[in-house]
Amino acid sequence: MENLSPQFKARSAAAAADRALQAKLSASKALFVEGRKRAVAEIDFEATREAGKTIRGGCAADLDLWLERFEDEATRRGGRVLWARDGAEICRLVAGIARRHGVGKAIKSKSMLSEEAGLNAALAAAGVQPVETDLGEYILQINGDERPSHIIAPAIHKTKEEVAELFARRHGRPRKTEIGEMTREAREVLRGHFLTADMGISGGNFLVAETGSVALVTNEGNGRMVTTLPRVHVVITGIEKVIPTLEDLATLMRLLPRSATGQSISNYFSLLTGTRRPDDGDGPQHLYFILVDNGRAGVLGGDFEDMLRCIRCGACMNHCPVYQTVGGHAFGWVYPGPMGSVLTPLLLGLEQAPDLPHACTQCGQCAAVCPVKIPLPGLLRQLREEQTARGLRPRQERAALGLWAWLALRPRLYGLAAAIAARVLGRLGGGEGRIHRLAFAAAWTGGRDLPAPPGRTFRERYRAGRRER
Ligand code: SF4
Repeated sequence: MENLSPQFKARSAAAAADRALQAKLSASKALFVEGRKRAVAEIDFEATREAGKTIRGGCAADLDLWLERFEDEATRRGGRVLWARDGAEICRLVAGIARRHGVGKAIKSKSMLSEEAGLNAALAAAGVQPVETDLGEYILQINGDERPSHIIAPAIHKTKEEVAELFARRHGRPRKTEIGEMTREAREVLRGHFLTADMGISGGNFLVAETGSVALVTNEGNGRMVTTLPRVHVVITGIEKVIPTLEDLATLMRLLPRSATGQSISNYFSLLTGTRRPDDGDGPQHLYFILVDNGRAGVLGGDFEDMLRCIRCGACMNHCPVYQTVGGHAFGWVYPGPMGSVLTPLLLGLEQAPDLPHACTQCGQCAAVCPVKIPLPGLLRQLREEQTARGLRPRQERAALGLWAWLALRPRLYGLAAAIAARVLGRLGGGEGRIHRLAFAAAWTGGRDLPAPPGRTFRERYRAGRRER
């Protein structure tokens, strides 16, 4: 997928002015946030979070061992494990598998890695028709390969009415407005694809090393069709998704649906192990796992390794005031919200996402809800520090911070400068106490007023208060 993260400022400014988008986001926020609150109250969430953090942290620390074990077990059960360095290699491997098995149509269940690689375009170029089967992804695909805007609810930026229009136009059927009727229509259209596809492509929520299995969490049931009906199944997932045991999976499954959709358990949970055996009613004859690095190995063992614990639940974005204002498209690549603001610079390079580490108010809500305790605000601060140290921030910003640091080390001078600034800005605020336009803070005053300081600094007021007392 093309990276539009460098345009974050322009895209977020446009999104912030889109009232309709914010109405859609706030409706879904209520659903996710309230649902999560109820679901986490059912268990000892803090203890389970701690256990989840330990499991995922241990996986990252011994990733090579667990990946080897997974490869052995999956191979023993008829699967084939392939390794991809980057998106181009994913596309080349999947196209090669399609060619080998004479595939004309591939049905897909959600895989973030296929988004990272831009797999649909590569499949089409290889003569394979890709069909998205997650309802949200399907909606975006028939709307001209639109980008997802949320990791678990990709079409969250669309209203029911917009989808009704789209279905009527693309399905050539009378317009329906009742959600049950619309989903039935999508199911009828997709059913034909399920029954005629040669290959199924899915992601994986977790890979279980001790059994060589892939665990899939879905709410629509399409994941089961994708993974069991076609004769070839390809799982594409990041190397960090491996966990040691089924017991670990049970712990993480207490966290994932609760954090993602506020469900105690998802509608469907599949644990897929090996190819079809002679007495199986269904299942693929050929099973491939494509395990992808695409920048992850570079994160291992470094300051940002905590990020590899992520289980892609989306809770951080559901609670993020920035995401809730600008939506997912503004972030410009596969992963939006707080986790995307950390992950995109790590996977693509800080130069490729210069403003994402700053798309954060440091309110800390994301870290408070993250089911595996990833310190997202701290990681964002570290990325900012790295940017400054590598000279990647604008010259004026670095000069201003340099001046501030110089002053901060000289308390008397700092006090004097603050007193002058407070008086000048206080005067600019006039009787209203608000500054409408300020040249060196145009990015702020272009969209809203700046509250003017009251004319005296805190220290001056504090000293005056003590004298009065
Ligand atoms: S960073 Fe935490 S809250 Fe955000 S998607 Fe990952 S696991 Fe979920």
